[in-house]
Amino acid sequence: MGNKLIAGNWKMNFTVAESVDFIGRVKSLIKNVHKTGMCICAPFTSLHALSGALRGTGIALGAQNIAWADKGAFTGEINAAQLKEAGVEYTVIGHSERRHMFGETDETVRLRTAAALKNGFAPIVCVGETDAERTAGKTESVLKRQTVAALTGLSAADAEKTVFAYEPVWAIGTGKNATPADADGTVKFIRGTVAALYGAATAEKIKILYGGSMNAANCADLLAMPHIDGGLIGGASLKAEDFNTIIQAAERL
Ligand code: PEP
Repeated sequence: MGNKLIAGNWKMNFTVAESVDFIGRVKSLIKNVHKTGMCICAPFTSLHALSGALRGTGIALGAQNIAWADKGAFTGEINAAQLKEAGVEYTVIGHSERRHMFGETDETVRLRTAAALKNGFAPIVCVGETDAERTAGKTESVLKRQTVAALTGLSAADAEKTVFAYEPVWAIGTGKNATPADADGTVKFIRGTVAALYGAATAEKIKILYGGSMNAANCADLLAMPHIDGGLIGGASLKAEDFNTIIQAAERL
């Protein structure tokens, strides 16, 4: 599947000063990274400062959302031109916190994914089942529905630029990660869903990350799995040493 991608999701953490300070610390730790993709998805307020701070680090800048409309009366939203101006390359879409706390739906995820691709961003589309869905045996049907919805209307050329993050909701911020074998099997299922829509060649090109309590201790085993193309990291991406440990684990594979 090629080189791994390690994406940090800072969520609603870090002021501008804290963001820049963090990059200073991470910069002194990250050495000899030649093949692993790196990205930090920061709060909107930190993006401009980070585009300068990240220069020369090899870490790409990501946002945590993108509006589906180009501009206009969308209070609280940030559009593609505003993100581009800040130097953003990636954007998280449909994180479970947005789906469950802020009313994000499969349809808004589809619209945002299309807007991201139309404007040259790499969307990181989050999919994942809740604990109740898992217990009810609905994991695959939920993931299929979310994956198909996000890709609806996209050409194969656009679909292959989409990054998926399999994030079981019960594993996010809980300290309970999926086992490497379970996470790998589920990522394989998501890839099969993409293959059914676009064919195996396109599905092989899509990066599918695992996210959910990935940390310095469990990252090597998760990242070593054949179908997992990297990690979307929440809590551990707020600690410079741990974030570096995860990047170095990916780099060793
Ligand atoms: C996330 O927010 O995408 C995430 C995976 O969080 P954590 O690593 O803290 O579980």
